Amino acid sequence: MTKKIVVIDPGHNGQNFEHPEIINKQVDAGFGQRKACNTTGTETNAGYTEALFNWKVSLQLKAALEARGITVVMTRDSNDGVGPCVNDRAAIGNNSEAAAVVSIHGDGDDASANGFYVMTAERDPAGSATAAQSARLADDVRSGLVNTGFSPSNHLGSDGLWKRGDLAGLNLSQKPTVMVEMGNMRNAGDAETMSSADGQQQYADGIAAGVVQYLIGR
Ligand code: ZN
Repeated sequence: MTKKIVVIDPGHNGQNFEHPEIINKQVDAGFGQRKACNTTGTETNAGYTEALFNWKVSLQLKAALEARGITVVMTRDSNDGVGPCVNDRAAIGNNSEAAAVVSIHGDGDDASANGFYVMTAERDPAGSATAAQSARLADDVRSGLVNTGFSPSNHLGSDGLWKRGDLAGLNLSQKPTVMVEMGNMRNAGDAETMSSADGQQQYADGIAAGVVQYLIGR
């Protein structure tokens, strides 16, 4: 594989809870929409935060990709800060030579909902060719997660895929981009997996397999 760059966007940040005056500022969310700069994210019933989960999975995903010779750019460099805003995160991807952008999240849904889903932009912010690449990236990440033992959401999206029109990170991206909701932090089974180091490694391995498959082509 030639040298490739992948941008990993760990959703939210650990200090967002402390700084509503920063994260509630309205920013460009694409296609004429405005949204909050950033949000706190969800957490498990035991208080394990999504921001920390996203950060841990992203670090393990970074290591897995770098071990395969891929260069990784992160949109934040710790879980001790605030932001960056969603439009600034998108700009980090757009200003890189990224072959793929992967945004890492966990959901906070009804307790009965479980499983992952991979989101792409409903409209094509960078044209149909890039949208087709995003769709292939989503399909490969879904396969990577399924092959690692995870199940698509029983509640949201369709067989693990969902197109959304209201997410700045997708609307503003000029690169092949997906946003992954790894599981439902309010579901007991998902929460247990998402809070554990082994579970986080498993998520990272699944996404890494999908990203590598995408970069190799098929
Ligand atoms: Zn999130």
